Amino acid sequence: MAGLGASRAGVGGNPQVGRIWFTQRREGAKRKCLRRSRSQMLTSLHSRRRSSKIACGAGYFFAPSRLRVKKSSLVLHENAALIQGDMIRTRFAPSPNGSLHLGHAYAAIVAHDLARAGGGEFRLRIEDIDGSRSREDLAHEFIADLKWLGLEWDGDPVFQSARLATYAEAAWALMGKGLLYPCTCTRKEIAEAATNQGPDGPIYPGTCRGKTAEPGADVAWRLDVEKAVDLAGPLSWTDELAGPQRCWPEMFGDVVLLRRDAPASYHLAATIDDAADGITLVTRGSDLFRASHIHRLLQALLDLPVPTWHHHGLLVEADGKKLAKRRGSPSLADRRRAGEDGLALAEALRHGNLPTGISLAEGVNSAP
Ligand SMILES: [Zn+2]
Repeated sequence: MAGLGASRAGVGGNPQVGRIWFTQRREGAKRKCLRRSRSQMLTSLHSRRRSSKIACGAGYFFAPSRLRVKKSSLVLHENAALIQGDMIRTRFAPSPNGSLHLGHAYAAIVAHDLARAGGGEFRLRIEDIDGSRSREDLAHEFIADLKWLGLEWDGDPVFQSARLATYAEAAWALMGKGLLYPCTCTRKEIAEAATNQGPDGPIYPGTCRGKTAEPGADVAWRLDVEKAVDLAGPLSWTDELAGPQRCWPEMFGDVVLLRRDAPASYHLAATIDDAADGITLVTRGSDLFRASHIHRLLQALLDLPVPTWHHHGLLVEADGKKLAKRRGSPSLADRRRAGEDGLALAEALRHGNLPTGISLAEGVNSAP
């Protein structure tokens, strides 16, 4: 069983510290690249040769004072080099901004069991870059919860806060391709100007498209999705349950990749993390089905390996709404501390024996 903390580099938000961290990681990745055969690389949508070159290649560093980007190295670090053959690797990636509940337990069990059934690996990632809401103590609670459920993961837990330099590097690579632009609009302004609704709310009307800003300015950076789609060409991706999907990220409009209040958006961080962790099967709830259209586009733009997805059903309450702590669902920690048998609970979830009032909403949402 892995411990907690070994992967935490303490990068924080400091670009200089991040640069040092990234340099060390890059050197490690280079050494491992030299030791592996090219055939062990997962192929990206583009050529296997190009992917291998980029994963091993020299890159640029996060330099707030300049926009010029050398060749992208968007390195998958050493984990990408460890992917061998068809070995399955999944992950559970909770955010430490609230206790885990039954829905999280179900998601973790799905990811764990799919990996183990295929003789593969199950990883744990703590998505802790939402600085205002993340609580360090919850990571320890999560680990106790997972152990209580009988779920063991491979390797050390990974913390997003240790990857800030990598997110910045990816964003710079996209800026170098002219695909990002700064946005200063408020939610209210967007809601008032928007004429269409997308999966995440009002579709951004493109008010700031074409604007420029100095790196480090107090702005959000949006992806020019139409331009990105033109550059990437037609894409597809596959969900194990819903089958092949034609990639249609335009439904989101120009999404934010670098938030004003956090180092990276969910879309950017999750895409990079899954590549960096060598995840071959991305498991998550069907509420994130549509997000995979954006993630597939980002993979193409950043020359990242393309996983398969598995969007599972969600546990819902009697009114059909997703379980959530704020709606009063008991947390796993509460259950654990009350002496409930975690192994029995996990078995019950596996067999669909759910507490009264809770059901599994199947229905993978493959429709746009
Ligand atoms: Zn704007």
